[in-house]
Amino acid sequence: MRSALLSHVKRVVVKIGSGVISNAAGLETERIAALSADVCHLLDRGLEVVMVSSGAVAAGKGLLGIVGRPQTIPQKQAAAAIGQTRIIRGYRETFQDHNYNVAQVLLTRDDLSNRRRYLNARNTVMTLLEYGVTPIVNENDTVVVEEIRFGDNDNLSALVTNLVEADLLIILSDVDGLFDKDPTSHPDAELIPVVERITPAIEALGGKSRGVLGTGGMGTKLKAAKKAALSGVGTLIVNGRSKHILARIFDGEDVGTYVLPAQSKLTAKKHWIAFSKKPRGKLLIDEGGQAAVVKHGKSLLPSGICGVDGGFERGDAVRLCDRDGHEFARGVISYSLTEVLQIMGKQCAEIEKILGYKYRDEVVCRDDLVLTQDEEEEVD
Ligand code: GLU
Repeated sequence: MRSALLSHVKRVVVKIGSGVISNAAGLETERIAALSADVCHLLDRGLEVVMVSSGAVAAGKGLLGIVGRPQTIPQKQAAAAIGQTRIIRGYRETFQDHNYNVAQVLLTRDDLSNRRRYLNARNTVMTLLEYGVTPIVNENDTVVVEEIRFGDNDNLSALVTNLVEADLLIILSDVDGLFDKDPTSHPDAELIPVVERITPAIEALGGKSRGVLGTGGMGTKLKAAKKAALSGVGTLIVNGRSKHILARIFDGEDVGTYVLPAQSKLTAKKHWIAFSKKPRGKLLIDEGGQAAVVKHGKSLLPSGICGVDGGFERGDAVRLCDRDGHEFARGVISYSLTEVLQIMGKQCAEIEKILGYKYRDEVVCRDDLVLTQDEEEEVD
């Protein structure tokens, strides 16, 4: 059954967790070599692969004499700077043995939040793929501070999946997939082979677990799978420590947990608005405006706005909230804060009279607007 699901896959994002290629003692170079060889076999089969590899911090911290997790952000950044060179060298050597090339792509959340930089990153990665080179993506840990991080590489891998319009996301973890109970404390726990939809009950199974070496746990993997699902892409969460796991997946073996794509997917642009672009202010919307947007799929007009909170410029993403400040949608705004303060609550016909000009009737156009009610806690 899996093979049927995977038959259409041409471009795949493979996310490699720190726990897959390193242990407490540091990088496990033989694992990098084995995984690289497996990726090369996928290339031999005609697939395009974009890798998102963690492990920089885990690979570099030993050199700084750090045991366990680095305690401060500069320590983590220094460890990442050291480790990143090592992981890339590891991949590069094996790829070269198979006559393939790799490229390093380091991204920050700001890079993907800014549409121009997002499209630049996309062009670069697409060009690499055209040339048959495998991009290896990681967060640019040395320059990011906590507030502007992707959070974890599971999240990054979901955003990259949308960026490159991949057909499948494979998350290589150090566990076999999602279980119906915590397998560490329940020997009778059973693997869940297929998840149709990530419901709150499924999210609860993911828990808040977190590995010692990487940032994420099953919870962040499910969040990533949910974002990928909204790109119309399925996610496989499998054990990256199992031998030849990538080849086995494409041979049709039923391994790990497969999270199905959502039935109605967001366009790549709407996905970017919901998950990659950083929102700035809030618009408070009256009941009529909310019904127009949510129930009837209409654009937001000035008449529906009853308040604002925080600053924004034209072209920023803003949160659309009810009168109590609960977000129900997010979109790119056509007017600045100063302009919105003047036109809110007014009819479209009055915009030009008030401002002396008019960009358009819609403050947030339906094409640039995405409903986020269910996602509120995670689209930040
Ligand atoms: N970017 C980090 C690293 O390469 C890992 C982040 C994560 O584990 O999610 O070490």
